[in-house]
Amino acid sequence: MADIQRTVVLIKPDGIQRDLLGEIVGRFERKGLKIVAMKFIHLTDDMLEEHYAHHASKPFFAGLKKFMMQTPVCAMVLEGLDAIESVRKVVGATNPRAADAGTIRADLAMNVPSNLIHASDSPDASASEVKRFFKDDELFRYEKITDRYQFGEGI
Ligand code: UDP
Ligand code: MG
Repeated sequence: MADIQRTVVLIKPDGIQRDLLGEIVGRFERKGLKIVAMKFIHLTDDMLEEHYAHHASKPFFAGLKKFMMQTPVCAMVLEGLDAIESVRKVVGATNPRAADAGTIRADLAMNVPSNLIHASDSPDASASEVKRFFKDDELFRYEKITDRYQFGEGI
């Protein structure tokens, strides 16, 4: 059974610089994910220490943090059936050159850390990232006439 899940997406500074916001948001919209929150955030060192804690000891960590603070990022919460895995599939593998054709990273990027997008990788990560980046009153509940195709019986 599919679950309705929420997942956090950040469009990274390379997406902002390369004018790919519309293209990337459009891909998630066309897939059938519902945008329940969206805003710009200028990430801080503290936020990145927490968000990328799994990379804290890596040689690329300082460069990764600097890259993520070059511009604001566009932060979103997307809702949908199995949204966490669905979004990761649409985003593609971490290394854009190894990502499957048709994914955002394969189609639009060439490099790390500049692989355009962060997306939550598990229910636990999604829950802590929603809390890290959003206040309760920034998350919206609303009905769309397309909900029945994307959340309901599919007809
Ligand atoms: N990253 C990097 N060098 C690496 C691995 C990762 O710069 O060798 C960056 C890259 O931007 C990646 C982010 O760190 O998206 C987080 O890494 P993770 O392994 O969580 O990959 P993701 O979940 O983003 O696919
Ligand atoms: Mg990750």
